[in-house]
Amino acid sequence: MQFTHYIAGEFQAATKSLPVIEPATGAVYASVADATSQEVAAAVRAAKLAAPSFAALAGNVRGEWLRKLAAAIESRSEEFAGAESRDTGKPIAAARAIDIPRAIANFRFFASAAETYATETHASPEMLHYSLRQPLGAVACISPWNLPLYLLSWKLAPALAFGNTVVAKPSELSPYTAHLLAEVAHQIQLPNGVLNIVHGSGATAGSQLVSDSAIKAVSFTGSTQTGRAIASATAVQFKKLSLEMGGKNATIIFADADFDLAVREAVRAAFSNQGQICLCGSKILVEQALMPRFREAFLAHAAGLLPSDPSSDQCQFGALISSEHLRKVEAAVAVAHEEGGRLLLGGLRTRLEGRCAAGYFYPPTVFDQLPIDCATNQHEIFGPVVTLIPFQDEAQALLYANQSDYGLACSVFTADLSRAQRFAAGLQVGMVWINAWMQRDLRVPFGGWKQSGLGREGGVDAFRFFTEAKSVGIANR
Ligand code: NAD
Repeated sequence: MQFTHYIAGEFQAATKSLPVIEPATGAVYASVADATSQEVAAAVRAAKLAAPSFAALAGNVRGEWLRKLAAAIESRSEEFAGAESRDTGKPIAAARAIDIPRAIANFRFFASAAETYATETHASPEMLHYSLRQPLGAVACISPWNLPLYLLSWKLAPALAFGNTVVAKPSELSPYTAHLLAEVAHQIQLPNGVLNIVHGSGATAGSQLVSDSAIKAVSFTGSTQTGRAIASATAVQFKKLSLEMGGKNATIIFADADFDLAVREAVRAAFSNQGQICLCGSKILVEQALMPRFREAFLAHAAGLLPSDPSSDQCQFGALISSEHLRKVEAAVAVAHEEGGRLLLGGLRTRLEGRCAAGYFYPPTVFDQLPIDCATNQHEIFGPVVTLIPFQDEAQALLYANQSDYGLACSVFTADLSRAQRFAAGLQVGMVWINAWMQRDLRVPFGGWKQSGLGREGGVDAFRFFTEAKSVGIANR
């Protein structure tokens, strides 16, 4: 298979390409285009050319295009789920239940937004002020490998809904569903140049894309390191940026919490997608009195998540994305040992047999006895490695949760809703769940504080990001 660029409504043969590896097998199964500077420039030109006529469409017409995209993905949803699982190593059941349905939902949600979002008016005896929200033109959407279609659609859908044209650059590690998306865009005859997809390495294709002066905004999800590189490369152009970056999130469990719920959700938060979700809770803070009971139950649940072939319907825990990432996780575990951590579970690469013998599998891994300020508790590992940390009281829990350069998300488990609200107000993060983890509502602001993010995605925030405001005042004369 070859994943080629999709530029100005055409699939274009690549000048250069990169291998695409199936994480479950470690084998190359496809090649993906690695955009040259000419190819990136051609995609930007196509988006720029298509921008005025797409911007001129009524919101409900753009909404209709998004609904067609959603329906076309839905009609091939099993193929999309298989592709996502093969490309990333995630369990096929997760791709079927989460990634693909949520991508479809993203297009439908923003189709409605295109039809219904309104702007402000302010009337006084002298003046009537109203606001226009106008599309920016050609924008870049850059996405990571952990939830490829889901996160790409979370950017594309609002960008298109509010009248922009797009050059998307998916992760070079997981290009398959973006390629299928280009196929469905072609199939529904989305006007040429409205959605362009260039593939390739971040350091070359990605950095050229963000620096192109015809790109009016960059919506990026990925690591803090790359976000920083994009911010510095684009600062001199005063480009609009939305940066969704790394995290080191705490799950906080008070002794009065619903015990079974807290254990179940803490395990889900720790190990969903093999711990490769920015929102995963990898610092698990447990009130001292509850720790022995919690530790036992948490370990028993986590031990049940055995790495296995992601293409099997029964798989609950798949592979890590790449051999490089597996080495990064192994290095983080070595650091946890050096820091004096006590290994409670996992800690060694899993070797499967048969088809997956050379796959990148690493089991749920749990440490305790590590201080809050050590590297293991401060750095994002982005894999299935978590720590259990006891706390004495609410003040200490808050201190520990906030002791981080990151500020993405936090889950709090307690039966005391006054405490939950007080605690939520004190947390230095963009998103808090009380007695839950990763409940998405497409209307709420999504994003992080500190080194986790700049700006917000979702709902009205996406509307604001992907448009420029203009206020118009008419005198009452
Ligand atoms: P990454 O930063 O390596 O890559 C993300 C994307 O940026 C890829 O498409 C890559 O090719 C591109 N890129 C790399 N260098 C670039 C450059 N100089 N200019 C432009 N583009 C460039 O991240 P990753 O390894 O793909 O993803 C994992 C990271 O993403 C983790 O840190 C995780 O926390 C973060 N993440 C954050 C969120 C969120 O919503 N906050 C969601 C998912 C993942």
